[in-house]
Amino acid sequence: MKTLNTIYINGQHLTPHGTEVLTLLHPVSEQPVAQVRLADEEDTRLAIAAAKAAFPQMRLSSREQRMIWLQKLHDALKARESELVETMIEEYGCPTGFAQSTVVRSYTSFLQASDLLKNYPFETQVGTATVVMEPLGVVGLITPWNANYGFIANKLSMVIASGSTAIIKPSELSAQQTALITECLHEAGLPAGVINIVTGLGNVVGAEITRHPDVAKISFTGSTDVGKTIARDGAATMKRVTLELGGKSANVLLDDVDLERAIPLALQVMSWNSGQACIAGTRLLVHENRLEEVKEQILKHLNTLVVGDPRDPQTNIGAAVTARQYQRVQNYIRTGIEEGAELLCGGEGRPAGLTSGYFVKPTVFVNVRNDMTIARQEIFGPVLSVITYRDDAEAVHIANDTVYGLQAYVSGNDAERTASIASQLIAGRVFINGVYDEPLAPFGGFKQSGLGREFGVYGLEAYLEPKAIMGR
Ligand code: NAD
Repeated sequence: MKTLNTIYINGQHLTPHGTEVLTLLHPVSEQPVAQVRLADEEDTRLAIAAAKAAFPQMRLSSREQRMIWLQKLHDALKARESELVETMIEEYGCPTGFAQSTVVRSYTSFLQASDLLKNYPFETQVGTATVVMEPLGVVGLITPWNANYGFIANKLSMVIASGSTAIIKPSELSAQQTALITECLHEAGLPAGVINIVTGLGNVVGAEITRHPDVAKISFTGSTDVGKTIARDGAATMKRVTLELGGKSANVLLDDVDLERAIPLALQVMSWNSGQACIAGTRLLVHENRLEEVKEQILKHLNTLVVGDPRDPQTNIGAAVTARQYQRVQNYIRTGIEEGAELLCGGEGRPAGLTSGYFVKPTVFVNVRNDMTIARQEIFGPVLSVITYRDDAEAVHIANDTVYGLQAYVSGNDAERTASIASQLIAGRVFINGVYDEPLAPFGGFKQSGLGREFGVYGLEAYLEPKAIMGR
């Protein structure tokens, strides 16, 4: 069993003042694998003080210097790519392919930030005023467990590019991955205090970051409930916030859609990251006249979802992160049945042949109404709700009838029609006839999916504050 008993403050690996110990269980073997000594409020205050002390120098650092640091951060992660992948599979139980793409995305985000920085106009002229984009100061980065490296790297890259300093509070469930990425970030050799990493509980470390008057901004990725707490409690010190929260994304299949293409895509987007993805397309909206075909196609293509050993190259759905998460998904499946949705495939319990591990059966419900619990709440497992509509207007209405608005999907054969539907969907990102990667496009949610945007210039400016200087 591993012992993880350090946090990273002011360039040093320290023993936490906190004494609470968390035991992490392996998501596949269900056996204890690591003991994590958790940081407390005092550790958090120490880290904030270090970040505060490092800010004056960081603020004055040149564009060129920041680009060098970003390159070093990229190189330090890339140098340990295979270890990062291994540790992610080991701790998180995700398929190898997902771990590999997460690690590549993570180190690439530092280069993307560097590229962005190359030409970013920190100073512009507005009439007689000079407008300077200034860094905010100490930024708290609070991240979830479902792609630990990715969230840390993306947020940190923008902190460095903007000239601020960071205190990172990763999920306590990702402590092994955090220990390794901490070594990489240390290797990069940035000035002490620019990056601080404090693993602890959300209601302890996260709450202290939210309260503390020396923290200027919080960038948070996680659940909508915790996001609301951060927005509310952070207001006491007028913190800037970027909140990337939950989703219940609609995938609209128009009546002329080619189901041979659209159904494999629908199964892919509902099961991203073993279903533990805020952007998962978990509500499949189909025209009532095509429901029977949709059911046939789902059953035909279900074998594209392979649940099991994360290291098997065939596997594309791994284990849920914890027993609690597994149980939560089981409860939702039960609720779906109790509320009258029809189970097309999957259901409660582990997939056949798997005797241990938090594995969930890919589950599809049909005849779901949009007011059922499984259509309204974020399940965070591979569970799809198929909902029928009568015409395009009703499809748009159902798609938008949710408190969330993170991502949406639409597929159909007529380009004008799919574009028209895309323009009516209320979501931060809309994908037409496929999934695409554009790392500089804004990412974030409408409504209760969040506040603000990440990525590209939108992400960078979320860490900057305009100052108008007149009479210069
Ligand atoms: P969570 O909200 O429980 O935890 C996220 C982080 O917040 C963790 O580090 C946690 O320790 C911390 N936290 C918990 N309570 C806190 C408090 N009171 N104050 C400050 N920090 C606190 O979320 P999770 O279970 O780790 O992750 C799953 C959730 O994240 C899902 O709802 C999912 O949709 C969301 N998510 C959103 C995005 C996005 O980009 N929109 C991406 C991934 C995950």
